[in-house]
Amino acid sequence: MTAGKATVLLEHHLKQLKLPTVLREYGKLAQVCQAEQADYQTYLLRLAEQELLDRELRAKERRIKAAGFPVLKTLSSFDFNAQPSINQMLVRELMRGEYIEHRENVLLIGNSGTGKTHLATALAFQACSQGLRVRFTTVTGLVTRLLEQRELRQLERFHKQLEGLHLLVLDELGYVPCSKAGAELLFEVVSRAYERTSLIITTNLPFEAWTEVLGSERLTGALLDRLTHRVHILEANGTSYRLAEAKNA
Ligand code: ADP
Ligand code: MG
Repeated sequence: MTAGKATVLLEHHLKQLKLPTVLREYGKLAQVCQAEQADYQTYLLRLAEQELLDRELRAKERRIKAAGFPVLKTLSSFDFNAQPSINQMLVRELMRGEYIEHRENVLLIGNSGTGKTHLATALAFQACSQGLRVRFTTVTGLVTRLLEQRELRQLERFHKQLEGLHLLVLDELGYVPCSKAGAELLFEVVSRAYERTSLIITTNLPFEAWTEVLGSERLTGALLDRLTHRVHILEANGTSYRLAEAKNA
């Protein structure tokens, strides 16, 4: 077989086998290994390692995209000094992700601008990095979607999708009151997530005020019961970071 024909065949096979990194790197790495007088097995090992690393990276990017973060935020850009009421130790412990293994929930409570969304995003982003399936949505966004899916008679399918997640972030409970149907659909999500999917919920409301948003006392009680059975609470009672930044400017 001529060298040209071998190359064409090899590259065709690598494409068929879906090994894009091997396809991209095999030539370069062959030269490197030749220069180092590495044996065939070492060459193949390095190629396999690169393919695996790239594959993990691609999967992580897919998970981050699928999570639907509004803005990417990480803990490194969070200034704990600006928000001393936040329990930094607990945040750092949660970053390890064990709460997800244990199907525990996280509640972030505090006024507007105190970094709740930032921290929820950082935690969820970390979960993506740890190989977990994550979805980030506002409560309003989720309720709208649930109502839509019900209209399309695809509610069950949507619930099944949500049940496939390791972590679901529900941002901004409390800014917009739910309709009765909306509150019931939201309850269904929380109920199904119980002991299956971890929830992170951010809210500006103390528990006493949840009934106002959800409408029904009975439903709020049942929802809180499930949510708080295994929960870590992070409270921020400082002032708005946005406001402080604007004032500084
Ligand atoms: P909340 O969700 O509590 O209303 P956000 O998380 O949206 O607040 O924070 C508002 C803005 O201020 C965001 O851009 C966020 O990144 C930033 N921010 C808030 N708190 C901090 C902090 N302690 N350190 C760095 N940035 C912060
Ligand atoms: Mg927010």
